[in-house]
Amino acid sequence: MIPAAKIRRTAAVVLTTGAVAAALGSGLADASGGDRTQEVRQAVQGGKARNVILLIGDGMGDSEITAARNYVKGAAGRLAMDTLPLTGAYTTYSVNKADPRQIDYVTDSAASGTGWATGHKTYNGAISVTPDGKPVPTVLELAKRAGLRTGDVSTAELGDATPAVLAAHVADRGCQGPADMAKCPAQDKVNGGPGSIAEQQVQTGADLYLGGGKARFAQTVKAGPFAGKTVIDQAKAAGYTVVTDEGGLNAAKPGGKLLGLFADGNMPQEWTGPAAKVGGTDPSRCTPNGSFGGPHLSTMASKAIGLLDAQTKHSRKGFFLQIEGASIDKRDHAADPCGQIGETAEFDKAVRASLDYARRHPDTLVVVTADHGHTSQIIPLEAQSPGQTATLITADGAPMKLNYATNTPGQSQEHTGTQVRIAAKGPQAASVLGVTDQTDLFRTLTRALAIR
Ligand code: MG
Ligand code: ZN
Repeated sequence: MIPAAKIRRTAAVVLTTGAVAAALGSGLADASGGDRTQEVRQAVQGGKARNVILLIGDGMGDSEITAARNYVKGAAGRLAMDTLPLTGAYTTYSVNKADPRQIDYVTDSAASGTGWATGHKTYNGAISVTPDGKPVPTVLELAKRAGLRTGDVSTAELGDATPAVLAAHVADRGCQGPADMAKCPAQDKVNGGPGSIAEQQVQTGADLYLGGGKARFAQTVKAGPFAGKTVIDQAKAAGYTVVTDEGGLNAAKPGGKLLGLFADGNMPQEWTGPAAKVGGTDPSRCTPNGSFGGPHLSTMASKAIGLLDAQTKHSRKGFFLQIEGASIDKRDHAADPCGQIGETAEFDKAVRASLDYARRHPDTLVVVTADHGHTSQIIPLEAQSPGQTATLITADGAPMKLNYATNTPGQSQEHTGTQVRIAAKGPQAASVLGVTDQTDLFRTLTRALAIR
């Protein structure tokens, strides 16, 4: 055991070094002349974590991180996520449903989410079920069972794959609400199943869910005790306070459970700018989305951390919280560089809020990672890509050309099969070092929280 005072000192040293490095614009320019041995040694902590904050940038591969860093901070700047002391890479492949021995090199968010949430490889589209359809327990469910408080936050619909994998088990990611069950007959309440993703999230009963997807929760339950009522009614009966705007979120008190539904579908994007196109665009800057409404991801993240902290303050047990920047992926699919970078920048603010909390609570494990790689690439200005490109003027005042060419121009751009970054700070953070697999993250999280 490391005494708390020493842990606090360690955290301060690491963060100070990171901050100095960022200010000087170089990862190497610190007092130790670039020798990070001591810093890394101090950052390695075994033992248990009281809390876990897991931040998932959907589709946030190395290219997406680099593009956002260049645009927001400049090439030599550092994002908050760059200051985590221990960084590795993890592999993200999925498997074939009919024959799970067959590898699928390009995962979707459902299979990858099932990987980090349950430790099991599965097929694209699966929500925390194995290839043969069996539900497998998730880190959030295990944390809840062990008496920890739990939260699930996303800028997507709450029934979208990443928030869904923590609290639901269905054969197909599309089965978000009671009216969407065509591909999930075994889970349909009409057939005696546990219901759609939205229904199961209410039944799993995390302490808070914040995101979009109100329209799914407004659908009518088809069978069981809540037949004829909406999933929102079911949530209220289960003790949830339901809020639908930022005022409601701000007013939420730590007493009970909280369901925040801030958009009918996915939440709005932070920034807009020129869409990438064949032949390229004029160099331009991004602008804030004038029609943005509802809380920002960092606002939801800070509120979630505050509520869970207040709920656990007088308890021996801490909390597990997942925070997703969902639309990095969605804007990358749309070849929308400003959309993608704006989402990454906002996600990074949520990382900063989490690191601020961890600095004051060093028994918190913070993990920042992605679920899979994506399309965007930074290419030379003179490159003649057959795909769609756009040129942005970055924080350096320099032009940066982004290329989207994983599918025919005009079609949805695709995920890629690359390994992605995983970075961590706090107890068990060293478990992300080197090259691991996505399913290893489940074991890191459960080991850190001593749950099984
Ligand atoms: Mg997602
Ligand atoms: Zn995607």
